[in-house]
Amino acid sequence: MIIPASVFGAIEAAGERILGRGMSSILHMAGDRLGREVAKATVEFMEGSLPPNAIFEFLIDGGTMRGFGHYDVSAFDFEASSGVIRSVDQPFPDDPIPRKDPGCHFAAGFWSGVISSLRGNEVVLDELACRSRGAPVCEFAPRGQNPLVSRGKTDGNDR
Ligand SMILES: [Zn+2]
Repeated sequence: MIIPASVFGAIEAAGERILGRGMSSILHMAGDRLGREVAKATVEFMEGSLPPNAIFEFLIDGGTMRGFGHYDVSAFDFEASSGVIRSVDQPFPDDPIPRKDPGCHFAAGFWSGVISSLRGNEVVLDELACRSRGAPVCEFAPRGQNPLVSRGKTDGNDR
């Protein structure tokens, strides 16, 4: 089944009308779950032929083919789980929902789940900047290394 990103925008818009800001956590958690499933399936498919960091890069490249857009992980250190993941063209911000905060909750959750599964520890990515808010790129960084989080100015992903 192929679902266009606009479906997530429609679900998010309806969810925010009904649930308010809690919808962002729901989307983050759904993305996280999918990311873990994709990572686990890929590890099994590779049968140990690639280390976790190479599987991460394989999934980043594969995401482009699957319509998730291009991600730049050159500023992200997988081993240390630090730095920033950027996307200039992933499709989630291309929806018309007006928002005050970054909006790519599903994508943030997806890569959180992928990285957590591959590393075997919990990593939660927050979106620091979002194209839906006028930023040139969407930027994701691990929670705890995000100075905005400590000041309570993120998008409310309270996982
Ligand atoms: Zn975004």
